[in-house]
Amino acid sequence: MADYIIGLTGGIGSGKTTVANLFADLGVTLVDADIVAREVVSIGSKGLNAIVYHFGDSILLGDGHLDRSKLRERIFNHDDDRLWLNSLLHPLIRETMLEKCKEAQSNYVIMVVPLLFENGLDRLVHRTLLVDISPELQQQRTVARDAVSAKQVQNIIGSQATRAEKLSQADDVIDNHGEVSALKCKVNALNTLYLKLSSSA
Ligand code: ADP
Repeated sequence: MADYIIGLTGGIGSGKTTVANLFADLGVTLVDADIVAREVVSIGSKGLNAIVYHFGDSILLGDGHLDRSKLRERIFNHDDDRLWLNSLLHPLIRETMLEKCKEAQSNYVIMVVPLLFENGLDRLVHRTLLVDISPELQQQRTVARDAVSAKQVQNIIGSQATRAEKLSQADDVIDNHGEVSALKCKVNALNTLYLKLSSSA
């Protein structure tokens, strides 16, 4: 049972997934906020049942899954529904992530949370790790990875905390301006630190 949690964060395209996978290679359990956010509204979940009760069956696709684009459109146009949905999902996501951390068998857990500081989830973790890159590189790598325009990426970057804000809040920082191969050495060094911190916590 792991009770030492590292919150891994960084803007879109910064390299969170790449860094998280290197920790996983060392045997560290990952708890990914994006995956949990999908789980809490999966078929048969308490979350999806509450959503259907609130919005009606028309919020579902033909196969019973949540129609995410319909839900996004609905909350974009209705503030009260957005607040309702957030007050349903945020605690559910938080509780589920903490449960998964507790169940983990590794000495510590990496919680991967894109909006760790923005949503105040840094309060749930013992230490924070930021993957840092410039907005220009963030844009370049995201456009290369996803079918999105530079303008769309720019808008997403603009909606997230600034690089300076995140840098001022993080306990540890991994600079990801270099090659992927350079990350391994940095992850190894942090793993040594986190093993030490988790054993004396
Ligand atoms: P995030 O999870 O933060 O959105 P990813 O780990 O998916 O970021 O990285 C974004 C993209 O950039 C991916 O296609 C990834 O393979 C690539 N990438 C990550 N780090 C580097 C690097 N140091 N050099 C070149 N490409 C990288």
